[in-house]
Amino acid sequence: MQVGRWNHQSSDKKSHESSHGGERSYSSRSPQRSGFGGRSGGYMGGGQRPFGRPGAGGNRGRAPARRRGGFGSFGETEAEIAKFMNRTVVTTEEPVFVPEHKFSDFDINPHLKKNIEARKYELPTPIQDKAIPHALLGQDVVGLAETGTGKTAAFLIPLIDKVMKQKGDRILIMAPTRELAVQIEKELAGFAKGLGFRGMVAVGGANIGPQISQLRHNPAFVIGTPGRLKDLMERRALDLSGFGTVVLDEADRMLDMGFIDDMRMILGKMNKERHTLFFSATMSREIEKLIGDFLSSPVVISVKTRDTSKNIDQDVVRIPRGKDKFEVLAELLKDREFSRVLVFGRTKFGVEKLAKALSRLHIHAESIHGNKTHGARIRALEAFKAGKVSVLVATDVAARGLDIPAVSHVINYDLPSTYEDYIHRIGRTGRASLKGRALTFVQERY
Ligand code: AMP
Repeated sequence: MQVGRWNHQSSDKKSHESSHGGERSYSSRSPQRSGFGGRSGGYMGGGQRPFGRPGAGGNRGRAPARRRGGFGSFGETEAEIAKFMNRTVVTTEEPVFVPEHKFSDFDINPHLKKNIEARKYELPTPIQDKAIPHALLGQDVVGLAETGTGKTAAFLIPLIDKVMKQKGDRILIMAPTRELAVQIEKELAGFAKGLGFRGMVAVGGANIGPQISQLRHNPAFVIGTPGRLKDLMERRALDLSGFGTVVLDEADRMLDMGFIDDMRMILGKMNKERHTLFFSATMSREIEKLIGDFLSSPVVISVKTRDTSKNIDQDVVRIPRGKDKFEVLAELLKDREFSRVLVFGRTKFGVEKLAKALSRLHIHAESIHGNKTHGARIRALEAFKAGKVSVLVATDVAARGLDIPAVSHVINYDLPSTYEDYIHRIGRTGRASLKGRALTFVQERY
């Protein structure tokens, strides 16, 4: 873990190396047609995209900007396929992190401390240990940290304290997806219990009317996706003049989703003297530029997470030419070991269709993608988390940043667009030092 002052040359290129081992080949019986696609339809076939715009799985149907050659997939060459295999999983003991601070050391509201205790947070995580003291001093912070590191509390704890100390200060939190915004609000509600202020979620895919009404009560925290925040500003329902603090959560993902103009517009409307906390899993030129343009002398904290992909047994499932990959999936899912499975598809339409087709076979599946209403996405997620359904079919964008415990398997039914997307997908399993398994379907062409 590193802490430093911002310098424009800094970069954080991660290497995601994996050792390559054998591969799993699906021993097919005679290729039967199940009515779900077959060779020509290939259901949502890797490399074949019969339905809709590729990758358009997120808010307002924006496609990720970072796509090789526009519409390509990662995993179309043998060299790329080799990166989906890692049969030599080493489960090494992680060195135990010893934080410099305890939550009780922080000069924060005593009631807030009690709420932290009530949430059973015993010790700060690395990002919390390093970021909270600086944020409490009102310094701008860049946190290079992924989901799962405790970054949400790293910004919520000092900001709740700020709202308590500076009555009337308001906080804007920008996040890439509805699910992440809802997750942040849930954490906020836990920490802020009994403190006498409120937060609200302002995201697309949900009716704007109630959000406009909520804004009339001047909530202390507004947590939203850039597109909807911009809409609300344009309708004059959201006036940023009272907001002295802004958090950009998963800034890299917001850029990927094409939110850059909205983000710049929103930040541009805020007071220049504001307090800015900025979180991103990765560093790129564009991220550096944003930081340079909108933060003032930030403290940079980089939390190196363990390379989760090493903890995950990764393999490919070769689908012989003529074999329907839906049948292969259905077969796999019958195995009891596949107890909580996240299946990735490429398009919203395909994901929806796949979940329905599985349900017809009595494999209880739900889906999350950008065409579902906000409420339906939350319900699907909760059903999966509670174990009411064992399979969740998702697009990349919808699944990003979600904190889902104990996913037994990630299945890449459709190839990811980039290797980075692959790493994000498989990172949903093997969390919290559990061993995870990831399978990638590769359709044989010859
Ligand atoms: P995040 O990276 O913010 O999404 O947090 C990941 C998970 O870790 C969430 O379920 C948090 O509630 C949990 N968490 C965050 N900080 C702590 C902590 N200090 N102690 C225990 N759990 C934590």
